[in-house]
Amino acid sequence: MGLNRNLDDLQPLFKKIIIYIIEQAKEKYNIDLKVNETKRSQEIQTAYFAQGRQSLIIVNQLREKAGLYTINDKDNQKTITRVENINTEVSHGAGLACDVVPNGNWSSSPLDWAVIGKCVVLANGKFVNELREFKGKVIWGGNWSKFTDKPHIELEKGV
Ligand SMILES: [Zn+2]
Repeated sequence: MGLNRNLDDLQPLFKKIIIYIIEQAKEKYNIDLKVNETKRSQEIQTAYFAQGRQSLIIVNQLREKAGLYTINDKDNQKTITRVENINTEVSHGAGLACDVVPNGNWSSSPLDWAVIGKCVVLANGKFVNELREFKGKVIWGGNWSKFTDKPHIELEKGV
């Protein structure tokens, strides 16, 4: 229970890519990318979706049920996801997304967060052939303009 940090639950190509990204971040930037979450259950998604939308009591009931730590009122003032139901075809529901945190520090500088994006670019180059076969590319949530998600790395299909 709780957050799944097991890289073995990622889709096999994506697992290789994440390991490469972690290696590159360490070698080139001396940043330890700590894995925060890989494949996600519906229970956890339900708790995440409730955050910022339901009362703190309900949110924490859902979080406890999902094996997550409880949050406070301030945490519950903003939403953290747009997704209500896990899609088992894409993203965390399919093992095609992985959240990482520079040195395990959520208050990392913008420069340290940007290392994730730089390593994602390197990964798209390194795995160009396998990605072409998969018909996908690796994207970084830090590049999203509307709902920036800095820890989020995803193998997007159909691109
Ligand atoms: Zn994510």
